[in-house]
Amino acid sequence: MDEESLQNALKTAEILCAQRGVRFTAQRRRVLELVCRAERPVGAYEILDQLREGATAAPPTVYRALDFLLEQGFVHKLETLHAFIGCTHPEHPHASQFLICSDCGRVKELENEAIAGSLRTAAQETGFKAERPIIEVLGTCAHCRRKTEQAGTSPRVPLE
Ligand SMILES: [Zn+2]
Ligand SMILES: [Zn+2]
Repeated sequence: MDEESLQNALKTAEILCAQRGVRFTAQRRRVLELVCRAERPVGAYEILDQLREGATAAPPTVYRALDFLLEQGFVHKLETLHAFIGCTHPEHPHASQFLICSDCGRVKELENEAIAGSLRTAAQETGFKAERPIIEVLGTCAHCRRKTEQAGTSPRVPLE
């Protein structure tokens, strides 16, 4: 997330917490900031390491802060990576699709209701109640694809 989105995410979280009557403690804010600031999904241990640089942070408090942020929809958990990313639209609950680049590790969140809806319906037809119809797709992002394509078509050194 860039600086502007980060500030927006923190401000939105603050407003939502006030509206929902839950406490946005300094620790919760700090953890959200670390998750949002990272360019790639971050794991709980990574967050713990970064928090330790300043003061002492006990693992349970970090896990509790992450649970809170997840519950409030401020961050998402990527099950395949065991890592967290910040959400840019936490004001409403949503089922997301995550495009995970296996090259650079960046993740793009999509919020396509049609996909989530058909997944729910397809699950229902088998009698399954989908509670978290979240999809994680592995692949290569536009940036990395451009890089490899350029490398593949770069002019060869001319023969003398
Ligand atoms: Zn989201
Ligand atoms: Zn990439």
